[in-house]
Amino acid sequence: MFRKILIANRGEIACRVIRTAHQMGIQCVAVYSDADRDSLHVKMADEAVYLGAAPARDSYLMIDKVIAAAKQTGAEAIHPGYGFLAENSEFVKACDAADLVFIGPPIKAIEAMGSKSAAKIIMENAGVPLVPGYHGKDQSPELIKAEAEKIGYPVLLKATAGGGGKGMRIVEKASDFDEALAAAKREAINGFGDDTMLVEKYLVKPRHVEFQVFCDSQGSGVYLFERDCSVQRRHQKVIEEAPAPGMSEELRAKMGDAALKAAQAIGYVNAGTVEFLLDADDSFFFMEMNTRLQVEHPITEMITGEDLVAWQLKIAAGLPLPKQQKDLAIHGHAFEARIYAEDPDQDFLPATGTLSYLRTPAESRHVRVDTGVLEGDEVSIYYDPMIAKLIVWDTNREAALSRMAQALGEYRIAGVKTNTQFLKRLAEAAPFQNFDVDTGFIERNEDLLF
Ligand code: ADP
Repeated sequence: MFRKILIANRGEIACRVIRTAHQMGIQCVAVYSDADRDSLHVKMADEAVYLGAAPARDSYLMIDKVIAAAKQTGAEAIHPGYGFLAENSEFVKACDAADLVFIGPPIKAIEAMGSKSAAKIIMENAGVPLVPGYHGKDQSPELIKAEAEKIGYPVLLKATAGGGGKGMRIVEKASDFDEALAAAKREAINGFGDDTMLVEKYLVKPRHVEFQVFCDSQGSGVYLFERDCSVQRRHQKVIEEAPAPGMSEELRAKMGDAALKAAQAIGYVNAGTVEFLLDADDSFFFMEMNTRLQVEHPITEMITGEDLVAWQLKIAAGLPLPKQQKDLAIHGHAFEARIYAEDPDQDFLPATGTLSYLRTPAESRHVRVDTGVLEGDEVSIYYDPMIAKLIVWDTNREAALSRMAQALGEYRIAGVKTNTQFLKRLAEAAPFQNFDVDTGFIERNEDLLF
């Protein structure tokens, strides 16, 4: 096992990784920017190296500086967390060149999944089901439109380089197509510097169900079941739960096998997530594979009793998978709510300010809070405005959900506007309790929730 690792991240995920590393007796090096001199992740680490100015491009995204920090402190491996450099194959190459272990998948797996269209071609060849669509190289607007007609409206245009719910446009009918394509391309160029588009069938009421997979460097793989992330605002996850309500054992095994097939098709190693859309008739379609630890990984930890960061560290050190498929089981039900500094009265725009008062729910066997901030900290404009993740567990969905509503009610945050009241209304909404949920849930229930 490693003696010392560097965590190339900040906030809750840096703290989360440090916690497990310390339990395993591994020393941790933090990195920080001007905005993070006194941050919790710096306080928790054994050493810390200054990177640069607050904007991420001057600090957390500076590959050379991160590598130099690892070399200078004698770290043997780098955990990237999520975001920043986590899915940047140039960074993995730089780690290799500097003889540092990247705690994540191989370069070729990251590259294979970096483009939504290239990923689809690989999955199609591997026999993983795809949403009917066009993801070819020929980008002439006439051809894409003809493909859209073939698929049948409504269709969804997606930037192949897109992510985070951005660069997507629903097109309801042929007469809207030209304008929608032009607008989506503009957004893609501005956001990702690449306006290659794909078009696919827009499923009307799908659920977002994703599978956690792990593969070791010996070629074995397992899945740690699924997470239902259907509750979304503008295609971004708001509340996630595991397991997916109503999922039969048969469907779970089928989707889990497809997820492993997807991972194995690209020679995957370490933690990955295969995202599917699930339709009401139980048909499911590959959407994309995220080649990192996900924000919502704790709910998988709650229902399996496994520490996914420990798994990542072991696999990166060359050890085999800690468990076989037959030794993994689901216990109870878990939810995660993402607590954001954002203003519900201003269309959930990110909010900034000083956390002048912060009372979090009491932690227990049932309630876990993953956070990277302390009372008195500043929520700045520079980074993702997530304040914490509230994770709850109980023996069944109903009990877990009532724990979540209760825990959300215990939050007291002053100084910065947050979405906690909105999340509490969500947890208490009857259609959510009855799981009448798909990706359109929030939009459809605005009267109840806002
Ligand atoms: P991103 O990489 O930007 O997160 P995804 O391809 O993962 O984009 O899609 C994000 C969300 O968009 C999904 O969780 C789902 O809610 C919605 N979505 C994506 N593709 C479709 C589709 N074909 N039909 C309906 N909804 C879709």
